[in-house]
Amino acid sequence: MSDYDLIIIGGGPAGMTAGLYAARANMKVVLFETKGTGGELNNTDLIEDWPGEESITGFELGEKMRKHAEKFGLAIEISGVKQVWSEGDRKVVELANGTRHSAYAVIVSAGGEPIKLGVPGEQELHGKGVSYCAVCDGAFFRNMDLAVIGGGDSAFQEGLFLTRFAKKLYVVHRRNDFRAQNILQTRLLGMDKVEAVTPAVVTRIGGNGEVKWIEVDRDGKIEKVPVEGVFIFIGFKPVGRHLFTKEHIEHDPNGYLITDQYMRTSIPGVYAVGDTRAQLAKQITTAVGDATTAVLHAERYIEELKHAERAFPEAPREEMPRVAQRMEPVRVEAGQTVVRQGDVSDAFYIVVRGRLGVFKREDDGNERQVNTLGTGEFFGEIGLLAQAPRVASVRALEPSELLRLDQDAFKELVSVSAATRDQLDKVARERLAANSRR
Ligand code: NAP
Repeated sequence: MSDYDLIIIGGGPAGMTAGLYAARANMKVVLFETKGTGGELNNTDLIEDWPGEESITGFELGEKMRKHAEKFGLAIEISGVKQVWSEGDRKVVELANGTRHSAYAVIVSAGGEPIKLGVPGEQELHGKGVSYCAVCDGAFFRNMDLAVIGGGDSAFQEGLFLTRFAKKLYVVHRRNDFRAQNILQTRLLGMDKVEAVTPAVVTRIGGNGEVKWIEVDRDGKIEKVPVEGVFIFIGFKPVGRHLFTKEHIEHDPNGYLITDQYMRTSIPGVYAVGDTRAQLAKQITTAVGDATTAVLHAERYIEELKHAERAFPEAPREEMPRVAQRMEPVRVEAGQTVVRQGDVSDAFYIVVRGRLGVFKREDDGNERQVNTLGTGEFFGEIGLLAQAPRVASVRALEPSELLRLDQDAFKELVSVSAATRDQLDKVARERLAANSRR
């Protein structure tokens, strides 16, 4: 089993951006993609809403993104992913060929697949006139009458592409209003060879081994529209959720993975970005933004996980992702007090960088320094374990970075791991004894 910092699942714009950022940050990273990189870009003819490129084909943009990520050392492997699960402090990714890989974090950028109409003839005539990709199949339908089904951006964008080949193009939609952007509507519906068929619900696709017609229900009236190609664009079904068969991952009613603002899913160490994530806009620009956020957070998460493991060597590894997920970074300036003697003990701290002094106020009111803490050391356990106020103050001696674990997360950890409780108890006893000797 090869071991990585980060595994990226899916090679669309989101996955390739995640790969670019991770490889450039020197993370040990691999990207698995089922078919070939590009994702939905390969199903899109012209892209006009990618800043800096007034007009570029989807394929060209995908290739540019791939080359850019590979220039920074991203390893791309063409291999389908079967499933993903947590094991200890790692995520295991099993490929369709049975090989397994592990990583501290996984970014799911698996996109989705087209939704099917579910009418008689659709499945039987798939590849024989029924298509879900105008860019891939449009050229086979030169000078033929065609139909696009759907009223969204995809139907209109792909419809525009199909006008290059179609003798006549019907835009068949179940309502009179289209949800596609106005600019796309004006362009497509303004063409002489384009005719809107609305409101029209497709009830059947038929022919003689190849598509020859579609049957539509127009307010109760059944009509046949003669066409030789039917291009269906009625939305998209995310696939990321199906990779998680062994543990629950939160998703919305349509199967889109739910994330927070850092693209974290409900499984610590698993991020979701792009079209597989529950969000407002399925755009290339938002997908690459998601991916950037996810990688920057994943780097932080991995560092926090390693710090947590050093601080709690006795804790079960499977607890560590949850602990790391609940750690908050804290920056303090020189002279800043982090905890104050006598205050309520509400958190545990690990020193990531810097130096802090531990100060104890004596009965005579004078304060003296009893300890110095540096990188990798921790504080705050005495009050938390005893459920008592802070026994000393901790002040930064230089600008420092800490990780803060709140008392609830701390309590949960020591309740599931007696060995961790014993380890921290021992440290607490030794520190108290050293304080009283000084
Ligand atoms: P979409 O926006 O969800 O539109 C799906 C269309 O199919 C809707 O018009 C819907 O009708 C219709 N539909 C859904 N189920 C149907 C059924 N069972 N039978 C018949 N019609 C059905 O999907 P999309 O067009 O694939 O776009 C997906 C996302 O990608 C959107 O967020 C879109 O903005 C984005 N996108 C953007 C661009 C771009 O140029 N920036 C290009 C492509 C896609 P109703 O309207 O009646 O619900």
